[in-house]
Amino acid sequence: MADSRAFCPRCGDPIPDRSRSDATETGDATETTETTNEGDGTETSEIPDPRTEGSDLCRACYFEDFEFVDAPQQVDVRVCARCGAVHRGQRWVDVGADDYTDVAIEEVSEALGVHVDAEDVAWQVEPEQVDENTIRMHCYFTGVVRGEPVEEQVTVPVRIARQTCTRCGRIAGDYYASIVQIRAEDRTPVAEETERAKEIANNIVAEMEATGDRNAFITKMSETPDGLNMRVSTNKIGKKISNKMVEEFGGAINDAETLVTEDSDGNEVYRVTFAVRLPPYRPGDIIELADEDDDDGPVLVRSARGNLKGTRVTTGEHYEADYEEGNSPDARKLGELEAAEETTVVTVEDENAVQVLDPETYQAKTVSRPDYFDPDAETVPVLKSRAGLHVLPAESDD
Ligand SMILES: [Zn+2]
Ligand SMILES: [Zn+2]
Repeated sequence: MADSRAFCPRCGDPIPDRSRSDATETGDATETTETTNEGDGTETSEIPDPRTEGSDLCRACYFEDFEFVDAPQQVDVRVCARCGAVHRGQRWVDVGADDYTDVAIEEVSEALGVHVDAEDVAWQVEPEQVDENTIRMHCYFTGVVRGEPVEEQVTVPVRIARQTCTRCGRIAGDYYASIVQIRAEDRTPVAEETERAKEIANNIVAEMEATGDRNAFITKMSETPDGLNMRVSTNKIGKKISNKMVEEFGGAINDAETLVTEDSDGNEVYRVTFAVRLPPYRPGDIIELADEDDDDGPVLVRSARGNLKGTRVTTGEHYEADYEEGNSPDARKLGELEAAEETTVVTVEDENAVQVLDPETYQAKTVSRPDYFDPDAETVPVLKSRAGLHVLPAESDD
């Protein structure tokens, strides 16, 4: 009766007109169509996109071909036996899984395909551990296709291959691309500096790992009589550690490249050594400037970043080294604020002088009065050195 009626291209049976717009505007044909459709429980609005492959077939032919779930014969999963990383595509990925069953479920769900026409798809999976390296995944799928409920059960064996990932292989092989040397000018780095360097290195690597960078690791840290040596996996890490050290402590970096090898593509591979040279004086050091014209007294170092800055322990005035001197003006170290001795204030003489007890001889001595001196204090920290006796600021002044 209706001219618009279609026929199944495979079996030739007439197919009810499933087109929505035609259905509402072709009068008699509409009723016929709806009546026919009721048998299937199909609603016009749920009919799949007519462009979908195979949708021009009648119901019987469509379901004859229909494959609800597309499952592989087997899923092979490569995991790193050392760190648990999983090999995906062309690379190793950290998945953070506690056991291989979780990994296997995820890999299977990635490998399974469900027909595009299926709606309301749900699935359950039941892993069955067959042996140490085999897990059988029993998967049960449900969904709705052309308005009809469908279900399918598939079993996918998962084979787990335990290997060593690139990163763990490199770590095991003591691989490194860069060396960071922590040194100091005219002295040995102190524990505070080397401990901080290690902390910085660990933090940088942890941050890079957290962003999914699997190439970030520290191969070795070793203390030498000159300071600290660290072998790290990339030049970028070496550079970051060095920069952070200088940012915090001052000093300078020298880098030197060494050609180590050629990679598989014939590119030259360089190993970069970053030598961090920390400044000769540290905050808290008391130094005597070598400049003969300088008679303003010793300097308590406050900062060694950029030009050395400090406080004169005779007056409390600010001192800053010239640009040419930078962080290493010609000077001798007299002592450290940390090692200052607390001594008794005998009397305040005037705005320029104060009497304190010499901590060695217990004799009253007149010394210059810096502006940080608290006239109400009963005791003050002092440093006795070859430059004489000097009142230092209380450490809380820092
Ligand atoms: Zn057909
Ligand atoms: Zn690994």
